[in-house]
Amino acid sequence: MDILWILWTLPSVLAIEEMLMDSTTATAELGWTVYPASATGDSSISWEEVSGYDENMNTIRTYQVCNVFDANQNNWVRTKYIQRRGAQRIHVEMKFSVRDCSSIPGVPGSCKETFNLFYYESDTDRATKDFPPWMENPWIKVDTIAADESFSQVDLGGRLMKINTEVRSFGPISHKGFYLAFQDYGGCMSLIAVRVFYRKCPRTIRNGALFQETHSGAESTSLVLARGECIPNAEEVDVPIKLYCNGDGEWMVPIGRCMCKAGHEAVENGTVCRACPSGFFKTAQGDEKCLQCPINSRTTNNGATNCVCRNGYYRTDSDPLEMPCTTVPSAPQNVISSVNETSLMLEWNPPRETGGRDDVVYNIICKSCGGGRGGCTRCGDNVQFVPRQLGLTETRVFISDLLAHTQYTFEVQAVNGVSDQSPYSPQYASVNITTNQAAPSTVSIMHQVSRTIDSITLSWSQPDQPNGVILDYELQYYEKDQTEHNSSIIKSQTNTAVIRGLKPGGIYVFQVRARTVAGFGRYSGKMYFQTMTEEEYNTSIQEKLPLIIGSAAAGLVFLIAVVVIIIVCNRRGFERADSEYTDKLQHYTSGHISPGMKIYIDPFTYEDPNEAVREFAKEIDISYVKIEQVIGAGEFGEVCSGNLKLPGKREMFVAIKTLKTGYTEKQRRDFLSEASIMGQFDHPNVIHLEGVVTKSSPVMIITEFMENGSLDSFLRQNDGQFTVIQLVGMLRGIASGMKYLADMNYVHRDLAARNILVNSNLVCKVSDFGLSRFLEDDTSDPTYTSALGGKIPIRWTAPEAIQYRKFTSASDVWSYGIVMWEIMSYGERPYWDMTNQDVINAIEQDYRLPPPMDCPSALHQLMLGCWQKDRNNRPKFSQIVNNLDKMIRNPNSLKAMTPLSSGVHLPLLDRSVPDFSSFNTVDDWLDAIKMGQYKDNFANGNFTSFDLVSQMTMEDILRVGVTLAGHQKKILNSVQMMRAQMNQIQSVEV
Ligand code: AMP
Repeated sequence: MDILWILWTLPSVLAIEEMLMDSTTATAELGWTVYPASATGDSSISWEEVSGYDENMNTIRTYQVCNVFDANQNNWVRTKYIQRRGAQRIHVEMKFSVRDCSSIPGVPGSCKETFNLFYYESDTDRATKDFPPWMENPWIKVDTIAADESFSQVDLGGRLMKINTEVRSFGPISHKGFYLAFQDYGGCMSLIAVRVFYRKCPRTIRNGALFQETHSGAESTSLVLARGECIPNAEEVDVPIKLYCNGDGEWMVPIGRCMCKAGHEAVENGTVCRACPSGFFKTAQGDEKCLQCPINSRTTNNGATNCVCRNGYYRTDSDPLEMPCTTVPSAPQNVISSVNETSLMLEWNPPRETGGRDDVVYNIICKSCGGGRGGCTRCGDNVQFVPRQLGLTETRVFISDLLAHTQYTFEVQAVNGVSDQSPYSPQYASVNITTNQAAPSTVSIMHQVSRTIDSITLSWSQPDQPNGVILDYELQYYEKDQTEHNSSIIKSQTNTAVIRGLKPGGIYVFQVRARTVAGFGRYSGKMYFQTMTEEEYNTSIQEKLPLIIGSAAAGLVFLIAVVVIIIVCNRRGFERADSEYTDKLQHYTSGHISPGMKIYIDPFTYEDPNEAVREFAKEIDISYVKIEQVIGAGEFGEVCSGNLKLPGKREMFVAIKTLKTGYTEKQRRDFLSEASIMGQFDHPNVIHLEGVVTKSSPVMIITEFMENGSLDSFLRQNDGQFTVIQLVGMLRGIASGMKYLADMNYVHRDLAARNILVNSNLVCKVSDFGLSRFLEDDTSDPTYTSALGGKIPIRWTAPEAIQYRKFTSASDVWSYGIVMWEIMSYGERPYWDMTNQDVINAIEQDYRLPPPMDCPSALHQLMLGCWQKDRNNRPKFSQIVNNLDKMIRNPNSLKAMTPLSSGVHLPLLDRSVPDFSSFNTVDDWLDAIKMGQYKDNFANGNFTSFDLVSQMTMEDILRVGVTLAGHQKKILNSVQMMRAQMNQIQSVEV
């Protein structure tokens, strides 16, 4: 249905009457043709033209007739030819007066008070005194016209008369013109005025559309369709846009509609769409008026569809355009902190100015300061924020897991929905605190490595928060029937201990705690382990209870322990104690060892390392192995490639490490230790052990074959051959393998490109789990420098591991950073030809490797993260994997290159330069780097903002007038650090 807008009553717009003939405007005689023609002296005359006056006393030409006393009258008067001029329906308005027959004394019954109106169509003016004949047919009768009023006083002098007005219409007419005729048949009347016209609907604007002037139709009931067009700056809402012109020249039945478009409003009764004036706007098409711009916004020209925010004011995508523009909040107020050991509560008041919004939230920026040379660095991920760090809706946060005895700066930023649109960083209030000394946190995981009839070997993980260097551990234990008062204590420098002198079949409660200079941490939860019973011992000489590890193992320990306890307690009748233990055991196992979590077990904690080999490595019969060729030299003998065909399995290509003949028992043990480590792992990015051959000679370790050999030489052979994404793919694989190893609590200690193997699909796998090189004092390989208690690959090793042998997954992360650098430089030697001692000194002085040539800056940032001096600030492998995944998903993030990475011989970056963000001005920063004497030079060179300074090149530094080489170097280094810190801030803020 297209008639949506039917309004039958329209505001009246007068129809146009187009005049075709008007007797009243005649200036001379009308000269119409009369029948019968008058003959001189004839008393019975037909219509006669007489001058008279109308009601306004204007002179007019009239026709009169008054032959009432003669019967059989037939008097005609015919107008002149009237042009039709396109009209289809003709209207005739007649003004006349008629004499009342009854008022004429003695008048016969033939007296009439009416006359007839006729018309005759013709294309030309061809009428004569005899043609058309004076009779109905050919004339067409329109009507018999009677007076509404007749007058009773004759005053044909025009002084007194009653005038009737009648209108008749006829149509359709199709010829070019027509004549009218008035027939009198015995009346006394005067035809005072005749006006002939047709009607038109006028040009009009309806419903926002313009309709042109339209002739009315042929019939009084005809409706002539007219199509409308939207007025300027209006647009159709409903189509078609139509109006109908009726026979009276009136518009009716409007259909469809146009409305003023956005930025325009209807004025002048809806006939004009006017542009919204300056300072007003209208967002959409419609009947609404323009609205005044909301606060803090303005228009840039007339006809605005929205108002733009003033400088410093913004809208979010979801803010309605009618809403005032808003701005960023001011800083939070009155931040107060209360420190408790290594945690802290921060509270503050909301900002004075919310920027006009009600979505203010708070972010906490944590910087640890004073770790070295006065600079501040962002806190690592290990710091905990409750309820969270970013987007706090409350005005308080609890922060824990800070480092003991450390200065921190906390910035409480206030941000709202428009903060990210502001070019300025959020306003904040900051507070400086120093944490107190704190004891180490609790040891959470403890497991049994082995047991005998009178001893148990236990191993445990380091506390998550050592809060200092762990001096030793204290293990408290007692028989489960006893109390803590009867407990014994032993100390251990490492995280393993053998507890001897226990009773056969005794169940013991164990708890461990760590000690630092700040004292002891709290004891771990109670854990129950049992020595072998005599029977078990006797029967397990060949058939020892298998060692129990991992989650399944934890479950098994639990099961055995529970079964044992239930049996023991039932035998002794301790019903109550039974349930108590069961609870504790359950609680302990479920609370601390998550299902599926596997912990690496050091084969050297086995009393007999051969047992570890049997436990973790499958024995392969030599007949299944076919050696093909020698591919390299290992520490203990040749490395070969070959085939392995296990029964029921497909033949596979393998690498075979052999132990050269003439080995000592210790060498055999060390050689095989690699297999008992490797055999505990199962991950696509960790080299896979197929098995060992120990029952025949030579002793072999058989692993999957890696076609492209070790990564360092592979990269050197393919210098520049890979895309960045391929390189990042390699990095990702290695990080994923390392994450797996770290999750298993395994610390590699020798992560380097030379110890990564590459297969034909470019998959990188972590390998080389030999422990021997750390233990032997053999300085034949210069990569490994002998340190107190073992050899260390200096260039790859974190400073704390070099200095006090603190090897952790965090020190593996440092090495991972070096591997990244090796990969991105296609196998370049880290720190080139610097001596080991120079490397140690440079690192100590906060110098770090620069980005290799063409290295994306995001990757160099990640390397710098891995090389944080404080190991707690280094990323975890899981974070590294996530970070690399993001880069792979968004390769654009790898496009940005550090401008410095165009050359290979770059200086090491000086990480001791203070964080520029702790200074307000370039001058303060120059002071901090002890280059304050160049403040004017910088100002004159227009380097007045950190953004500009961070872009400075050596040329710029020369240009502002720094001539001393040492100062140039210092400033360039600091600028480079500023750039790196800026990138770091950006990546953190993203
Ligand atoms: P390694 O004793 O583990 O350092 O091995 C010595 C060399 O043997 C390595 O540098 C590799 O070139 C090669 N190699 C070791 N294991 C494999 C393997 N699984 N697949 C291929 N080549 C290997």
